[in-house]
Amino acid sequence: MGERLTVDNPPSAEGPWRERGPVTGPKDAACGFEVTENFERFNQSNDIYTRGQWDARIRSEKVLNWFRGMFRTGLGARNAEGYSVRDFALRNAGWMGANLTIQRSLHLGRTDGFLDYIRPYSEPNPEKDPVESPAAMSEEVKRVARLFGADDVGITQYDPRWHYTASFSPKTLEEKPYAIPDGLPNVIVVVTAMHYEAVQSYPSATAGVAVGHGYSRDCELVQAIATYLLNLGYRAVATVNDTSLAIPYAIQAGLGEYGRNGLLITKDFGPRVRIGRIHTDVPLAHDQPIRFGVREFCDTTCRRCASECPPKAISFGKPTEEVPGRSLIKGVRKWQVDPEKCFKFWVNQSTECGVCMRVCPYNKDTSRWASRTWYRLWRRMAASPLKRFALWLDVKLGYGKRVKPREYWRKFSST
Ligand code: SF4
Ligand code: SF4
Repeated sequence: MGERLTVDNPPSAEGPWRERGPVTGPKDAACGFEVTENFERFNQSNDIYTRGQWDARIRSEKVLNWFRGMFRTGLGARNAEGYSVRDFALRNAGWMGANLTIQRSLHLGRTDGFLDYIRPYSEPNPEKDPVESPAAMSEEVKRVARLFGADDVGITQYDPRWHYTASFSPKTLEEKPYAIPDGLPNVIVVVTAMHYEAVQSYPSATAGVAVGHGYSRDCELVQAIATYLLNLGYRAVATVNDTSLAIPYAIQAGLGEYGRNGLLITKDFGPRVRIGRIHTDVPLAHDQPIRFGVREFCDTTCRRCASECPPKAISFGKPTEEVPGRSLIKGVRKWQVDPEKCFKFWVNQSTECGVCMRVCPYNKDTSRWASRTWYRLWRRMAASPLKRFALWLDVKLGYGKRVKPREYWRKFSST
């Protein structure tokens, strides 16, 4: 640490994971995780977005403009449907809440919520409010989370395997010590659903409003829950994309399964979610992982995300522990998505992509009674011997088809 990262001075490979936790944890079988003896904790500097800043094989003026486009009006806009100034304006407006969180600590060399945990606004109340029981407190926390906009909540235990070995400073382009405080045994995991209609218009900048607004809601939500717990006298650290891997935690907390597209597939919103976590020492009861047929459906029946991915970054094959490049965690047997191919496509679009989220049959509109009922029926079919029929029907009924951005604008302007 303390030296600028380059291709010739890459992030450190070794982490202190052996001292901090076992390779295989007690919940792994229920989660469907296959963690092997080759497991290594992940270094944040190897994340494809951080590599876009220090790694000459990824970094370019185009990549830097991709990052700048989030803040600079008009950057990336062109004369193409879904990529006009208005489309980028809508996307960037969606990010505003998340940007407030990021901007708060930039002068300290931090990127709260994305590279660094979100600094709490206060110390815990010195007078601890007593907790009746971990189970009762879990119920209370879940009610509070829903009040502030969580679409689902699960609770699990701290698992060192999913935490980074080191963090990254975009200011100095150096590794910096991993810094989340110790002694926080419980993790509250929250998911927020992204706008269904906007996601239907991927690939486009228009669809980006779903991601930006998802992060904005997530940032507000995790900070509200952390603030509630701090006021009760407990320690609570809010995190979004920083400090740890979100998907394994969400699976351990019973919020969904892992899909071929490399995303968390939740029961009610499929892959169309953002994930936040709050690390805390308030006594809480833990949830159990759930299985509702995703692994089997992806494995034996569906390849839709792999076929539709524009740069073919998603595997058609079986789960493997072989990883394409340094931006994937080592020693976990799973479907691998090539982050380099994926990110290159994003940069060429000047915005992110979510085609694999749009086409996934588990991505359905569950906001209305009729569509929710149909989805639940379909989900049962997909978990039964009628898997092939379920997939055929899904395609036949037109689910997952792209909605043109101008159609999205028309719908959204008439509501
Ligand atoms: S986000 Fe787009 S490019 Fe990346 S894996 Fe999904 S479909 Fe492919
Ligand atoms: S599109 Fe199909 S294969 Fe891909 S994650 Fe969704 S269900 Fe699995």
